Amino acid sequence: MNTRRSFLQQLTTAAITLPLLSFEECTDAPQADVPYDGPVLRVAIMGLGGYGTRVADAMQACKKAKLVGVISGTPAKVKAWQTKYNIPEKNCYNYDNFDNIRNNPDIDAVYVITPNALHHPQVLRVAKAGKHVICEKPMALNAKEGQEMVDACKKANVKLLVGYRMHFEPKTLEIVRMRKAGEFGKVLFFQGLSGFRIGDPTQWRLNKQLAGGGSMMDIGIYSINGTRYMLGEEPIWVTAQETKTDKEKFKEGVDETIQFQMGFPSGAVASCLSTYAMSNLDRFFLDGVNGYAELQPSTGYGPIKGRTHKGELTQPHNTHQTVQMEEMAGIILEGKQPEIPVDGEEGLRDLKIIDAIYEACKTGKRIDLK
Ligand code: NAD
Repeated sequence: MNTRRSFLQQLTTAAITLPLLSFEECTDAPQADVPYDGPVLRVAIMGLGGYGTRVADAMQACKKAKLVGVISGTPAKVKAWQTKYNIPEKNCYNYDNFDNIRNNPDIDAVYVITPNALHHPQVLRVAKAGKHVICEKPMALNAKEGQEMVDACKKANVKLLVGYRMHFEPKTLEIVRMRKAGEFGKVLFFQGLSGFRIGDPTQWRLNKQLAGGGSMMDIGIYSINGTRYMLGEEPIWVTAQETKTDKEKFKEGVDETIQFQMGFPSGAVASCLSTYAMSNLDRFFLDGVNGYAELQPSTGYGPIKGRTHKGELTQPHNTHQTVQMEEMAGIILEGKQPEIPVDGEEGLRDLKIIDAIYEACKTGKRIDLK
């Protein structure tokens, strides 16, 4: 029998001379590597571009989620991914035939990571094929599309989640916890600054047809979404102003910079900026009567950095997409409830605000939200 005594007796002199390793440490250590034998979400990624690759790489460290399939219009990319991630031929699809995924029992969910305008038709097709969907932000181009996606997934009895990776980020969650616990006192102000200088003028992000707009669809949405989870309220009105310094690069319907303001039932207000033309804009600031929180960077790939009136935030950095996929597997397979929702309704709330912001820019009026 393998008792502690017999184990110790078997130790060679060399092993005994191993410095400072107690028996307890020996037995505790391997638990971190205990093989996971619970349910695994088997995922196919649609759109093998920059972010799709980042998600695929991050998923290699997941226990509850596994990359098992691809959907792409580029056969060479499919081949490369098959080799890199060990993906079987039977789990590879293109944009013409991916409806056949309904007959594939080895795929549970599709993660849509294509240009914004494609999310709506692709999510509808995945839902019809009976698979769960994770869709990148922005979930769609407007609230009408978003509602159709929510309805289609409900009808097909599949889950619809949105790739809101910040909803699982530890420093973000700590601020939300503090706000809920009343540690900031009454919160009356939030500021969100989201932007970067965009390069290549020929990319889809600057094409109205594929992007659905400009900076607001791509990066400003982080300030909208962040305002909502930081304040824990839904806005009742928005105002917004658009400015454009480069009409050649940012054509009609592609916003370069938008400042926007939101008002909340509690009386809190938010002041935000979305831009494709400025550097160093990735910052959240929350102000309460008894304290404050700030994050900078606030929504990049991390490490996220920040502090509150109580001091620096020290929660550890983990690869966002690994944690996101692990948590989303829990939501889909085990019905886990995330601290901040990531479902289709959550994506839809942001789209309603985006619609209102564009309307406010066009009319110069304050837009009331239901
Ligand atoms: P990308 O250009 O790097 O990749 C897009 C992929 O879609 C490419 O592989 C391209 O071949 C494919 N594609 C399929 N049909 C296409 C078509 N008709 N036109 C153009 N490309 C087509 O873009 P990306 O940065 O990977 O962004 C994809 C999505 O992911 C966007 O919705 C974006 O907002 C989102 N995204 C999210 C995050 C995040 O942190 N959550 C980060 C980056 C991008």
